[in-house]
Amino acid sequence: MINMQKYNWVDEEISALKAEGRYVPIRTIESAQGAWVKINGKQVLNMCSNNYLGFANHPETKKAAIEAIEEYGVGAGAVRSIAGTDEIHIKLEEKIASFKHSEAALVYQGGLLANLGTVPALVGKDDIIFSEELNHASIIDGTRLSPAKRIVYKHLSVDDLEKQAKENRSSGKKALVITDGVFSMDGDIAPLPEIVDIAEKYDIMTYVDDAHGEGVLGDHGRGIVNYFHLEDKVDIEMGTFSKALGSMGGFVAGSAEMIDLLKQKARPFLFSSALNPGDAAAVLKAIEILEKDDSLVKKLWENADLLKKSLADLGYNTGHSKTPITPVIIGDEKKTVELSTKLYEEKNVFASPIVYPTVPKGTARIRLMPSAVHTHEDIMTAVNAFGELGKKLHII
Ligand code: PMP
Repeated sequence: MINMQKYNWVDEEISALKAEGRYVPIRTIESAQGAWVKINGKQVLNMCSNNYLGFANHPETKKAAIEAIEEYGVGAGAVRSIAGTDEIHIKLEEKIASFKHSEAALVYQGGLLANLGTVPALVGKDDIIFSEELNHASIIDGTRLSPAKRIVYKHLSVDDLEKQAKENRSSGKKALVITDGVFSMDGDIAPLPEIVDIAEKYDIMTYVDDAHGEGVLGDHGRGIVNYFHLEDKVDIEMGTFSKALGSMGGFVAGSAEMIDLLKQKARPFLFSSALNPGDAAAVLKAIEILEKDDSLVKKLWENADLLKKSLADLGYNTGHSKTPITPVIIGDEKKTVELSTKLYEEKNVFASPIVYPTVPKGTARIRLMPSAVHTHEDIMTAVNAFGELGKKLHII
């Protein structure tokens, strides 16, 4: 019999979230990922997936995954260092290294795990981490797993980073500067060339999380390091397979020695079973497609430009995004949730609200994620729905 007293706090927390308009319903998708998905038996326009290039449900990535399952089975069977390294993991690591123009790469079971595993393996007691104010939760948690001193510098502020480096970088200790490449809630881009310059000046290692730059920025979607031509200047480039690459897993790319060391130290590598072969094969295929053909990347940007321009023409605040991520900033949390609910119920547009603590208070938003698989008409369907409901709710 459950002791009800013991669980009262759960109800109280849920009620408080609902009262503040911060309780977000989680919808169940009944179809494959794509421009349109089925929810509760109805087709809705999907405007909130990270499936930027459509690889989550692409005939070739699916075929590659199925073939890998036929060949290697559904599970890797063990931790990689014990008995779980399949040749598909090695092939994928070699492919990532060549796609990224880096010496080597290490595959993890998720992007979050890549950050949780790598950061504490690089810096420890008596070391320093300079961490961007708006870094993703997985970076923040990764830095918390290290006993290194953590100094947070202001969002996009090269001056603040330099000031902090000058004040805190004393010799004899390792130091790491870590930043999102593309900030996932606003779509703005880290000033990586300036960060690299400061890092060189103060002898600091550099680490960029390119979860939202993969498949989006750079030549054929090679990511932010390629976009800024910083291939031999960034020490660790981290990425995920779960967004533009359409599958599951994460990686870091860097020097052969660094990757070698991570294989001996990174805890998700040493203590958690390996990525499934089918997932790895799907990513390998997605990268092969990208290497040959950048038409999906181009289509993604075309759709993003159309979406941003059309929403701005309607009078919406879409922030300062420099990437396809399109935040429609409403501010008020209840109004944001109301708009999202009406978009779904009245217009069949699936676009989730994003509220505090994911974004700062007063900046609640609906984050729209255009993709290469949306048509021009799909984008305009979303825009028209925002136009009509925004007027009705006195948002625009
Ligand atoms: N870093 C950033 C910037 C992200 O946006 C995300 C995903 N939300 C992750 C890391 C984690 O990646 P994954 O979903 O593969 O765990």
